[in-house]
Amino acid sequence: MAALSKVEKLLTKKRAIESELTQIRRECKHNEQQVAMVPYGPGCQLEIRWLCVNCAETLGYPSECEIDHYVRKK
Ligand SMILES: [Zn+2]
Repeated sequence: MAALSKVEKLLTKKRAIESELTQIRRECKHNEQQVAMVPYGPGCQLEIRWLCVNCAETLGYPSECEIDHYVRKK
C-alpha cells in the first residue's frame, strides 16, 4: 500500500497545483501571446498553438499563415 499513499499524496499536490494554475490564468489578461509547440493529448503529440507568454495558457489555433511564419522562423 506504500505506492497508493504516495499516489494519493501526489494527486493532492497535483490538485493544489492545478487550482493555483487556474487562479493565475484566470487573473491573467493574456496580453502577450506567441505561437509555440505545446504537448497535447495522451500521447503528448506536439501541436502548434497560440500560447500566453505570461501564464502559458493555450489560447487557440494559429491560422495556416501564422503557422507558416512560425515554421519559417525556426
Ligand atoms: Zn496569460
